[in-house]
Amino acid sequence: MTLTYVSTRGAAPELGFADVLLAGLAVDGGLYVPERWPALPVGALGRFASMDYPAVAVEVMWPFVEGSIPRDDFEVAVRDAYASFDTPDVVPLRDIGDDLHLAELWHGPTLAFKDIALQLVGRLFDLELRRRSERVTIVGATSGDTGSAAIEALRDRDTAEVFILHPAGRVSEVQRRQMTTVLSPNIHNLAVEGTFDDCQDIVKALFADESFRTRRNLSAVNSINWARVMAQIVYYVTSAVRLGGASGRPVAFSVPTGNFGNVFAGYGAQRMGVPISQFVVASNRNDILTQFLTTGSMTIGEVHPTLSPSMDIQVSSNLERLLFEIGGRDGTEIAELMTRFRAEGTVSVEAERLDLLAEHWSAARIDDEVTAGTIARTFERTGIALDPHTAVGLAAAEQVRADRSVPMVVLSTAHPAKFPDAVESAIGTRPPLPAPLADLFDRPERYEVLPNDYGIVRRAIEDALGS
Ligand SMILES: *Cc1c(COP(=O)(O)O)cnc(C)c1O
Repeated sequence: MTLTYVSTRGAAPELGFADVLLAGLAVDGGLYVPERWPALPVGALGRFASMDYPAVAVEVMWPFVEGSIPRDDFEVAVRDAYASFDTPDVVPLRDIGDDLHLAELWHGPTLAFKDIALQLVGRLFDLELRRRSERVTIVGATSGDTGSAAIEALRDRDTAEVFILHPAGRVSEVQRRQMTTVLSPNIHNLAVEGTFDDCQDIVKALFADESFRTRRNLSAVNSINWARVMAQIVYYVTSAVRLGGASGRPVAFSVPTGNFGNVFAGYGAQRMGVPISQFVVASNRNDILTQFLTTGSMTIGEVHPTLSPSMDIQVSSNLERLLFEIGGRDGTEIAELMTRFRAEGTVSVEAERLDLLAEHWSAARIDDEVTAGTIARTFERTGIALDPHTAVGLAAAEQVRADRSVPMVVLSTAHPAKFPDAVESAIGTRPPLPAPLADLFDRPERYEVLPNDYGIVRRAIEDALGS
């Protein structure tokens, strides 16, 4: 049975998977969600226990893509995507005592969890564009992780020309080199002399430029893309299965959260039938989500830089998907709510809506001091060096864990070598880059430095694309 997708704001056409994949955002400004949540077949969790990660991934995702992409093509894309990981487990679990488990989401090519979704989404994009004989120009802004994951996913593909803007001098050297040492002809790195927000404004302006947008067939692979959420549902399933989920044993997850895409995928897994008893939404000092989940209101504030930069975010776009679900899937209501939020910078939901989350959802705000302390303490106790995002997840899990007899999975979202300064200052030694990236600092880079000026950036892109 083919699923269609509806917009959270209720005023965009219903689309099939392939159209949702290429569209990203809905035309009414909303986010696409499946018209209903497919249930895992009876006995599926038991069968998954003896299957490898790609096989489980195909089974879990198939109901979302069926009718849009041929089964054989989908299986090949999934196998290839996860063959780029450095372990056949793809997402290994590590027991750190006290029934706490790290699910390591960073075994892909760029050492952060974005690879899990983007390695697959890049291949699905390519597949669908080929089928349509189309080419796209992908434009994106990055503060670090997403850019490199998108570049790795799309390098050397002749269906996409990729332009990634990063703020010059404001991403870490590891992050910059992971992008700029990819010398594939379809990859273009633009270092803009401004902040991440300036980069994002330029990207928004490019998309708002109707003639440029259509002429160049602009597209994005940002975190609101449904296909990214879909790919992330899988490791909630495999982790739960590994910890006894097949016999109905509940499992809890703590998720270091920024844009809310990762934890919303967990919600999807729960709706499909995975026995998840608790979600811990872990934030750093930028705690708008903790505010929301504990009070029902949220107010946009300033973004504070922290040790966990990939979570330095004020507006978590994917929260809109959860609001849509708890609001009874009323698109008109969400459209009003989001318009108000944008205009007034603050929004509240009624107590009875929030109550729907009370049973399964908790949140905690972890400051830099506790983050550093958690890295140090965990290293002493287990010998494991945590990256700062994972440390936020672990500290939050320890603070608000509801039931110690339930296994708690902390999603480990980055390899420690990706954030070496924070880790070194906590444990005294610098975590080494894994072998495939060991020579990263010796590789030649290619990027263009441009002033923070829309017209100049646009011209640079036009020049690279040719006529
Ligand atoms: C993107 C990212 C996050 C946040 O994930 P969301 O899906 O945006 O909530 C957390 N940690 C790391 C290392 C990331 O790259």
